[in-house]
Amino acid sequence: MSGKTYQAPRGTSDLLPPDTERWARVEAAARDLFRLYGFREVRTPIFEARELFERGIGETTDIVEKQMYVFQDRGGDWLALRPEGTASVLRAFVEHRLDQTAPPPYRYFYVGPMFRHERPQRGRYRQFHQIGVEALGESAPEVDAEVIALGWEFLRHVGARDVQVELNSIGCSACRPAYQAALRAYWQTHADELCPDCRRRMDRNPLRVLDCKNEGCQAVLRGAPVIDAYWCDACRTHFEAVQTALSALDVPYVRNARLVRGLDYYMRTAFEMTAAGLGAQNAVLGGGRYDGLLRALGGPDWPGVGFAIGMERLMAVLPEAAHSVPGLAVMFLPLTEAARGVALQGVQTVRRLGVPAWARMDVGSVKSGLRSAHRAGVRFAVILGDDELRAGRWTVRDMQASLQQTLSPEEAVEVIRRALSLDTPRT
Ligand code: AMP
Repeated sequence: MSGKTYQAPRGTSDLLPPDTERWARVEAAARDLFRLYGFREVRTPIFEARELFERGIGETTDIVEKQMYVFQDRGGDWLALRPEGTASVLRAFVEHRLDQTAPPPYRYFYVGPMFRHERPQRGRYRQFHQIGVEALGESAPEVDAEVIALGWEFLRHVGARDVQVELNSIGCSACRPAYQAALRAYWQTHADELCPDCRRRMDRNPLRVLDCKNEGCQAVLRGAPVIDAYWCDACRTHFEAVQTALSALDVPYVRNARLVRGLDYYMRTAFEMTAAGLGAQNAVLGGGRYDGLLRALGGPDWPGVGFAIGMERLMAVLPEAAHSVPGLAVMFLPLTEAARGVALQGVQTVRRLGVPAWARMDVGSVKSGLRSAHRAGVRFAVILGDDELRAGRWTVRDMQASLQQTLSPEEAVEVIRRALSLDTPRT
C-alpha cells in the first residue's frame, strides 16, 4: 500500500453524522410542508443535455458561460452536471406531457445536489444542495405571493431567525428592453469605474451589473436608473397585486429595486430571502416568475414561478442543536464469546422498542466496555459475562445515575423502556 491519501475535490464536502441527520430532518420538514401547498416531489437526473441549460438558463449568464461542468461522454454526447433544478423539472414535465396526463395542480419540488464551478468560499461551493419548488400553469399574482409565503414559512418553521424577504419586479419582454437600454447608456457613462467583469457584460447583460458586489460598481449602481419608470401596465399591476397578496398573507417584505437574479429566465417577480447569521450578500433562498420558459423548452405556453433554497447556507444559520437526532441509547457489552449470541438477541429486542442499540462484540474488559459506552453517550450499558449467562440475566448499568442492577431480560427491557419514557410497545 502506498499510503497515499485523498481529499474530497475542492468546493465539495462530505456530510457526516450528526449533520446528515440534521439535514434529513430539515428535508423531511420541507417534504411535509410543501405537500400542504400541493407540491409533489420529482427526481431528475444529475446530468442532462448541455443544451437544456444553455437554452433554459441563458447563454450569456455566468452559470452557462463560466460555471457549468460540461463534458462529453464516451458516446460523444455533450452533457452537463445540473447547475440548478428548474430546467430539469420543466424538461421532465414536457417529456412526460404532464400537462395532459396528470391532474392539476402542476406543483413540483425537488431536493438534491447541484454543481457550479465557482470560486469556493464561505456559502459558495462547487457541489451544493438545493430544495426547490416550481408551480406551473398558474399566472395569478397571488400564486407568486403564495410561493413566497411558502419559502418564508419554511425558513421560519425550521428555525431560521430574522428572515428577510426582498422583492422586485424585473419587468417582461415588452418593457424590459427599454430599461436595459437606459441601463446600458448609464453604464457607458461610468464604464471606467466598473470592474472588468461588468465592463464585459454591461452590453450583453446590463441587468447583471446591478448585482455586482465589487465596491467600485456598487458606488456606480447607486445612481443607476430604477426599473419602476419602465414597467408596462401589466407588469405594474402584477407587482402591485403580489404585494397586496403578501400583505394579506402577513408576509413582511422589503422592496429592493436592484434585485436581479443570475438566471435569464426570470421575468416580473424576483425575490430573495436572507437570515440572521449569513453575510449580507448571501441569500438563503432565491426565486421568481419565469413565464415563457416552459414554451422555450418545447412545452405548452404556460407560466411558472418557483424558488430554490441553498441547503448549506440554511444549515449554517440554524442553531447547532436544531434538528439533532438522539444517538445510541443502549450498548450491550458481551464479555465472552458465548455471551455474544445473547447480546445479539438482546440488542434486537431493544431495537424493537424503537431504541437505537448496538452490541460491541470486541469488548476487552468491563472497564474498556464502559469507557466506550460513556464515549458513545448511551444511557444504558448491558453487561453480559459468565455469571449473567449462567443466571439468564442482564446486568444493566444506568450510565446517568451510575446505578447497576442484575435483572431478568423482561425486567431489564421494562427499566429501559420506562427510563426512556417509551409507550408500551404494540404487539
Ligand atoms: P440560484 O439557483 O442561483 O437562484 O440560487 C438559489 C440559492 O441556492 C441561493 O440563494 C443559495 O442559497 C444557493 N446557492 C446558489 N449557488 C450556490 C453555491 N455555489 N454554493 C452554495 N449555495 C448556492
